[in-house]
Amino acid sequence: MADVDVAVVGAGFAGIYAVHAFRSAGLTVRAFEAGSGIGGTWFWNCYPGARCDVESKDYSYSFSPELEQEWSWSERYPAQPEVLRYLNHVADRFGLWPFIQLNTRVTGATWDSARSEWVVTTDDGAQRTARFCVLAVGCLSAYQVPSLPGLESFAGPWYHTSRWPRAGMDLTGQRVGLIGTGSTGIQVAPEIAGVASQLYVFQRTANFSVPNRNRAIDPEWERAFKANYRSYRKQAQESFLGVPLTGTGRPALAEPAEQIQRNLMERWQAGGGMPFLGAYTDVLVDRAANDIVAEFMRDRIREAVDDPQLAELLSPRAFPVGAKRLCQSDDYFAMFNQPNVTLVDIRTAPIDSVYPGGLRTSAASYELDALVFATGFDALTGSLTRIDVRGTGGVALAEKWAAGPRTYLGVATAGFPNMFMVTGPGSPSVLSNMVVSIEQHVEWIRDCVGYLGSYGFSIVEAKPSAEDAWMAHVTEVAHSTVFPLADSWYIGANIPGKPRVFMPYLGGVGPYRSRCDEVAAAGYEGFVLSV
Ligand code: NAP
Repeated sequence: MADVDVAVVGAGFAGIYAVHAFRSAGLTVRAFEAGSGIGGTWFWNCYPGARCDVESKDYSYSFSPELEQEWSWSERYPAQPEVLRYLNHVADRFGLWPFIQLNTRVTGATWDSARSEWVVTTDDGAQRTARFCVLAVGCLSAYQVPSLPGLESFAGPWYHTSRWPRAGMDLTGQRVGLIGTGSTGIQVAPEIAGVASQLYVFQRTANFSVPNRNRAIDPEWERAFKANYRSYRKQAQESFLGVPLTGTGRPALAEPAEQIQRNLMERWQAGGGMPFLGAYTDVLVDRAANDIVAEFMRDRIREAVDDPQLAELLSPRAFPVGAKRLCQSDDYFAMFNQPNVTLVDIRTAPIDSVYPGGLRTSAASYELDALVFATGFDALTGSLTRIDVRGTGGVALAEKWAAGPRTYLGVATAGFPNMFMVTGPGSPSVLSNMVVSIEQHVEWIRDCVGYLGSYGFSIVEAKPSAEDAWMAHVTEVAHSTVFPLADSWYIGANIPGKPRVFMPYLGGVGPYRSRCDEVAAAGYEGFVLSV
């Protein structure tokens, strides 16, 4: 008999809820977490300025009406320490600690066909068996540092933002180099610029960013909002992004130019990426509509940055707005007016090497005391394939996915019985409010395991034909939008050699949920159930 019913890998938002949901369904569970604390993304990304770009009222669990009434967020967009406090509160409140093993990295998971169980190996050499294996490893966990010649010789400290020292890093009066201008780079840069004597921002690709307009939560507003939380959550589950939004419902291309500018400006002043991008129905599917919004955003950069040449260098032109994750910051562009901040264009003069005292590009050398990498992640697949996961016949997941990930509904993959992924590639995941998508997957997996028990089955496995059809659908939907026009991490373009496959599902949270429910209602259509 297996040690537990379910082995959960990871204790971030997904793993924490998985432990609670499976236990509440009467299953025995053990979660393994590599970190010394729970929280996943919100544990590791403790760099200064780390903040969620989804509002706190949305980026929180909905499974417990009591929890959502009891907990009060302090800000519209919660900072990393507050999200981490929330997750620790959830673990306390629901008594989850005995089932979570910290400081334990899962290195391998192998399906034992003879015994119909997973053998999970951890970095302490221990092995545990489980009937089901749930990979709740996060979409953005496998961080990447580019291999720069000479990096090992650098005399000062260097860190990837996702491994920021938990005790902090004092950059006061230092000359700091920052590589990367994605969501993370744009958040951390103003914080560093506030204390460093000099900040060099090494930019390969200029990025779009909208203001947060972050503010403290007003207790009166909170009371009124919480009175309708249940119906709001339902709307979120049925929405496109996992957040109820009020767009105009009209295409920009059918709207008079002045009206578009007025509408966009209103949303710009209100802050937030989702309401801004969601203003018009055609922005993410029609390049001409997208260009209007992109130009609006470049106008805002020209307003914020005093030096016109610098503003031009900071103006994104290489991809449609929204096709890479829209960044959010109140301070990023104006920061470049500070005398201690320098933008270095590494598109025209690429980084050549690192030396003990700094960094050299093909055009100049920069003397640095510290180096910060905000260079992103081997997204969606890296955290899964870096574990030695082996299914039927010992086939490795990394081998099966060598030409790109293949899943059925982003929750299972053929050849790997009784294994589930929470927000895996092929599901809305990173193109949605993650918490809503996580809850939907965990509950679907819980119900699937329950169904097997109720009907006398013990094994569930995706059919290759269902997987093929789903992947074709994921690709088809992606190619009806502007998303594939960007060299983004959604398509694997940020990792040298990674196959270009559009990984998240763009069909929308609500429709995706309905599809998953239909599959379940049809007795898990597309899966083989057996004993
Ligand atoms: P990212 O979006 O992948 O950005 C990485 C940055 O590093 C890009 O500017 C990239 O340039 C640059 N880069 C990568 N390799 C490089 C190299 N070899 N040389 C020079 N530059 C290099 O990563 P991220 O900023 O960590 O964000 C990842 C995702 O995490 C976000 O898209 C978002 O989903 C999530 N996130 C969310 C928040 C939030 O909620 N506010 C905050 C942080 C992160 P290129 O563009 O040229 O590739």
